[in-house]
Amino acid sequence: MRGGGRVGSKKAFLTRSGLDRRAMTAIGFIDEWGPDNVHIAMTRFSGWNVLLNGLTGQRGWGRQWRDPEPKDGYDAVIVGGGLHGLATAYYLAKNHGVKNIAVLEKGWLGGGNAGRNTTIVRSNYMLPGNREFYEHSLKLWEELSHDLNYNVMFSQRSHVSLLHSPAAVDAAARRYNTMRLTGSDGELWQLDELKKNVPHLNYGPDTRFPICGAAVQRRAGTARHDAVAWGYARAADGRGVDIIQNCEVTGVTRDGGKVTGLETSRGTIRGKKIGFAVAGNTSRLWTMAGLGTLPIESHKLQAFVTEPVKPLLDQVVVFGVGGAHFYISQSDKGGMVFGGDIDWYKSYAQRGNLPMIQDVAECATSVLPCLGRLRLLRHWSGVMDMSMDGSFFICKTPLDNLYLNAGWNYGGFKASPASGWYFADLIANDRPHRIIAEHDLGRFERGVNIDERGAGPDPKLHG
Ligand SMILES: Cc1cc2nc3c(=O)[nH]c(=O)nc-3n(C[C@H](O)[C@H](O)[C@H](O)COP(=O)(O)OP(=O)(O)OC[C@H]3O[C@@H](n4cnc5c(N)ncnc54)[C@H](O)[C@@H]3O)c2cc1C
Repeated sequence: MRGGGRVGSKKAFLTRSGLDRRAMTAIGFIDEWGPDNVHIAMTRFSGWNVLLNGLTGQRGWGRQWRDPEPKDGYDAVIVGGGLHGLATAYYLAKNHGVKNIAVLEKGWLGGGNAGRNTTIVRSNYMLPGNREFYEHSLKLWEELSHDLNYNVMFSQRSHVSLLHSPAAVDAAARRYNTMRLTGSDGELWQLDELKKNVPHLNYGPDTRFPICGAAVQRRAGTARHDAVAWGYARAADGRGVDIIQNCEVTGVTRDGGKVTGLETSRGTIRGKKIGFAVAGNTSRLWTMAGLGTLPIESHKLQAFVTEPVKPLLDQVVVFGVGGAHFYISQSDKGGMVFGGDIDWYKSYAQRGNLPMIQDVAECATSVLPCLGRLRLLRHWSGVMDMSMDGSFFICKTPLDNLYLNAGWNYGGFKASPASGWYFADLIANDRPHRIIAEHDLGRFERGVNIDERGAGPDPKLHG
């Protein structure tokens, strides 16, 4: 995404209108540019700015980030301008003071899974390593709009997992008690409480999977995915990161055990440290680096949105039992946003197929029969980086200066703040933080269990 308007004309307007440019810059009303077109400060969003722009014809808003030409080399190059790549660049600059950073994106920001997901954010994980990571992420989400000075529309509307048997209630009690004991939040709802809070579900006695209660995380919810990508891009740019769109990495050059540079559609770019954050395209980049194969498969996941309706559902609701998998929330515009399982065969295409549409529609109407009256507006698909144990990789690689961020399965949206935070920490310090120490490529040899779903070594089962 590119912002509009030239900063020069904005300054000219302010001077013409007699407003003091220094005062305007000081309160963040206009962007401040130094010599050689260096961006010193971006326009800050604030009540003041909205008011001033309202009074001056909305001419104070500059572009949201620059469109720089790539330099020959950088201290750190992150491949992939999705949420994980952008967040990594932001935290590298913010937390570790790295100055010379580039993010290379083959298309446009948010064109991958970043802008295709169903935006569910939660931290209901149980296993050590996972639970601390996702709870850290949720805490970052809670402050993200302020931190980025960009409204990511994080809505903590509760995540409600339906339970369909006494055994499921017991398993949820174990998980949600562990969450509470380790500093997160969680609760169990009996049927009457669930009916009161989510009245439109199918509670009839003849349903295939009668509902007997729910496991709930109230701090969980949704956020606006595009806003998160734009917010991280803008904040990273504000700290000097070069975000280079339409720049596809086509080759990786090596000198023995070190990466020397990246061949791209915009020329060769050298990097002292390189990070891969390309989600469903990870195995392609890995092959370019001459590293063989990865314990990751690329699968397609579809999502759907209906025509807008009046408020129907206040929470995120998840239905998963006996092979069914379905999750739904209502967008701010009123559309019902939902998804189900992956398409169950490997592909790099960002396009899904009919059998899964039918499967998801069946789940939808069985759990919320009133959806049967709605028209589907759009559906789309993204390429998921599914790992053998359903857990992510944030780790060093066999090459000295190459770092890997991948394996996000269905859950990389909620993970993006913590993913960027820990990946930046790894790249800056060249060692994994203790929380992510088991999330490396060697864990399968060591027999580490971070398979949260307990589904075993079959990537397509890790929904
Ligand atoms: C339909 C769907 C629903 C989902 N729902 C949820 C959800 O509700 N909650 C949740 O937590 N997660 C969800 N996810 C998962 C989440 O969206 C992903 O795990 C996450 O977005 C992946 O990280 P990313 O944003 O960095 O990936 P991406 O946005 O895919 O970023 C990777 C980027 O790398 C770029 N790239 C690839 N190859 C190259 C190259 N050679 N050179 C340069 N750039 C390259 C791509 O163009 C892309 O922009 C969902 C995903 C999908 C598809």
